[in-house]
Amino acid sequence: MARGGRQGGQQGDPIDWVTRAADDAIRHAGEGNKVTVASGASPSGPIHLGNLREFLTPHFVAEELRRRGIETRHLHSWDDYDRFRKVPAGVPAEWAEHIGRPLSAVPDPWGCHESWAEHFKAPLQAALAELGVEMDEVSQTEMYRAGTYREQILHAIRHRDRIEEVLGRYRTKAAPAAETEEEAAELAESVANDEESEDSGAGAFARFPYKPWCAECGRDTTDVTSYDDETTDLAYTCRECGHSGVTNVATEDAGKLVWKVDWPMRWAWEKVDFEPAGLDHMTPGSSYTVGQELVSSIFDWQAPARVTYAFVGIAGVQKMSSSSGGVPTPADALQILEAPMVRWLYTRRAPKQAFTIDFGPEVVRLYDEWDALGRKAADPAKRDAQVLAFERASATHAGGPLPVPAVAVPFRTLSSVADVTAGSADMISRVVEHVGFPHDSVADLEPRLGRAMAWTASLPESERTIVRETPDADRLASLSEDEELWLRIFLDRLPERLELDEVTAVVYGVPKVARGLGFEDAPTDQVKADQKNFFRLLYNLLVSADRGPRLPTLVVALGQDKVRSLLGA
Ligand SMILES: [Zn+2]
Repeated sequence: MARGGRQGGQQGDPIDWVTRAADDAIRHAGEGNKVTVASGASPSGPIHLGNLREFLTPHFVAEELRRRGIETRHLHSWDDYDRFRKVPAGVPAEWAEHIGRPLSAVPDPWGCHESWAEHFKAPLQAALAELGVEMDEVSQTEMYRAGTYREQILHAIRHRDRIEEVLGRYRTKAAPAAETEEEAAELAESVANDEESEDSGAGAFARFPYKPWCAECGRDTTDVTSYDDETTDLAYTCRECGHSGVTNVATEDAGKLVWKVDWPMRWAWEKVDFEPAGLDHMTPGSSYTVGQELVSSIFDWQAPARVTYAFVGIAGVQKMSSSSGGVPTPADALQILEAPMVRWLYTRRAPKQAFTIDFGPEVVRLYDEWDALGRKAADPAKRDAQVLAFERASATHAGGPLPVPAVAVPFRTLSSVADVTAGSADMISRVVEHVGFPHDSVADLEPRLGRAMAWTASLPESERTIVRETPDADRLASLSEDEELWLRIFLDRLPERLELDEVTAVVYGVPKVARGLGFEDAPTDQVKADQKNFFRLLYNLLVSADRGPRLPTLVVALGQDKVRSLLGA
């Protein structure tokens, strides 16, 4: 074993949270054994960027294990057999009738998928495919309905007193405290999830670990009224429709373990070695804490190695995300950020660090940072944890490198040009060609160009550049002597063919020439002051603002005719 108990990686490799989590997973599985990492999600609504940590955390660990040549399974459980709990805003009120039914049995109100569950799985599955995340997806509806867990269910029922002893001990512990409103809402949600799945009504069987769906109405609003350990016949009545029924647990598959028992049962059944959990699960009495104890005392398996992940905040959202109640989804993020960048956001910070994704002006800086990291990663002498994060973000074991543009024009430039021209990809491509980024075709600029266009379109009017349609006659009629001189020199010196370098020289050179200097001369303090005023004049006349995108880019993007006409030529 290597120094410090490290098992994996190359000697001298940087170490990050993924390295350590992979080591833990191997330790759990036992050296030389296949490793199973797991994630799980309930498709009860849009799966937001915060939830993406649930998927990407085990993904990166699985990738590290594969990199080390270890046989690895990323198991993803769709908890689509969970109950439909409430009708969200924007869904017809009559969907209340489905409360208590499995998510997989609730119809899709938008009519595009087979069920409520499928409606919310589909966009995430598409986004994960784009992110290079391959998982072995398992539907809990299918597993339960196929009778896969019959033995485990009977086992749990036989040991219901011991299970209740554990659950009871945790039940009295205090609820966790939340630090923010957002956290409070999520915590309340998860506590509600935990509690109601435990609730089997009143009476002697109130804490029965297995809950049948009503045979009549399909809801889980059932109270167990008797259970025969000999015959395994379970009788229940439905609070909702009044139906009284009997199901045989050994021969029929008409119910589900309560959540706090279900989760540890599946850890053992699937032999899970690593599974992350949200901070909300790390509280006394939470399903994770209770499950950790149940899995070893009832199901003969050690709780998986884990990392805890913190919340992901979202800022700067404007016109994004029409489909998800205002909170952006991974699909929304992929409209603006290249896939490797989205991965990078989640691998560069340890899961327990909270972070915020800002879709406002911060996006430009994020792209700059990403591009700079790419340049650093190209130098083998500079390999550190940041570069390791870049590598983890950029490629997958099976799929290789994720798509990046052949010609990486700074996002700043692409979005300015998209903003100013408000034009087609072809038009932007032509301008970009003249601002110093030669390329063969529009395709060379993708997948970044489309994202720059989408991001620009998502900005509020106040942050957009609005190019004037007609010259500002009033302003042009009231030019000072200096201003008139600057414009005359500018129009006189502007080259026929607008290329960035030449235009830059002219934009900066005009105030020099006006003071009797040459283009190449260093600016005096006077010239510097003039430059500021001249630039503001150009912005006023071109885009009715005091500032805007870099002037040379703006001039090239607008083109000869437009510039001349707005400057009164
Ligand atoms: Zn019923």
